[in-house]
Amino acid sequence: MKIMVSACLAGENCKYNGGNNRSEKVIRLMDTNEVLTVCPEQMGGLPTPRVPSEIRNGVVTAKDGRNVDAQFRAGAAKCLEIAKIEQPDLIVLQSRSPSCGVKQRYDGTFSGKLVDRAGVTAQLLMDNGFRCIDVEDLIEVHNDVIIRKLCTEEAGLLKDFLYEAIFIPEGVQPPARDIVERSELRIYYEYFGRCEADLCLLAEADGHVVGAVWTRIMDDYGHVDDETPSFAISLISEYRGKGIGTRLMRNMLCLLRERGFKQASLAVQKANYAVRMYENVGFETVDENDEEYIMLCKL
Ligand code: SF4
Repeated sequence: MKIMVSACLAGENCKYNGGNNRSEKVIRLMDTNEVLTVCPEQMGGLPTPRVPSEIRNGVVTAKDGRNVDAQFRAGAAKCLEIAKIEQPDLIVLQSRSPSCGVKQRYDGTFSGKLVDRAGVTAQLLMDNGFRCIDVEDLIEVHNDVIIRKLCTEEAGLLKDFLYEAIFIPEGVQPPARDIVERSELRIYYEYFGRCEADLCLLAEADGHVVGAVWTRIMDDYGHVDDETPSFAISLISEYRGKGIGTRLMRNMLCLLRERGFKQASLAVQKANYAVRMYENVGFETVDENDEEYIMLCKL
């Protein structure tokens, strides 16, 4: 995959204070992908170190009051020019920067407050159809599959993936799509994001979201206690059997460990091919009924 990244994430000392935002995640990308680096602020003619800037009333303004809008926009235009020539598959940018922030940037008051708006370069690249992602939302890129965090406005995807997750044995007619509206299934997605254990990672391939893994502490079939998040995972059928589910599961287990959870659980139909994959990532059967195994993974 060809990936354009904010140069400071690759360890280049182009940040306003002369330092960098080196990200091990981005360094790892460089091992297996073609990576090109850009620093729009330097490319717009600003020196390093430089006075930090924020966007106030649509104008990029340095902390000392100087108008640096022209330099920021010139840098953004140069990045776009490079992107048009190089056609990167993905652009990974430094979060919250007035140039590079994708989802958020500082609000222009130099008080640390954020607004849900992009920086000037990120906005220009997105307006021109380039796929941009904040470095904080990226988990990894592996075999051209992007694993990333779910954005709040994508929570509706969970319903679709919940339907995909329903195990349908061979020869059985799939249920109607509105089955996910039943109360015992709504617990998987309703008000998602409100609790600490509400975590979701998505897999993106060929420009589409093709899989999701999510966790939540809920009274579902895999519930073991009120401290243990349960897993739900689902992949679009043509992307199964390619190792994407395993990567989603492993990354989610890391995320739960980082958040301080001690174990995670799931329920799986005994006939489901995914049982082996769950065992491979560390789950063990702790209980069973006629149809399902209840599995637990110590973190
Ligand atoms: S403009 Fe972008 S690449 Fe340059 S230092 Fe700022 S965040 Fe990093």
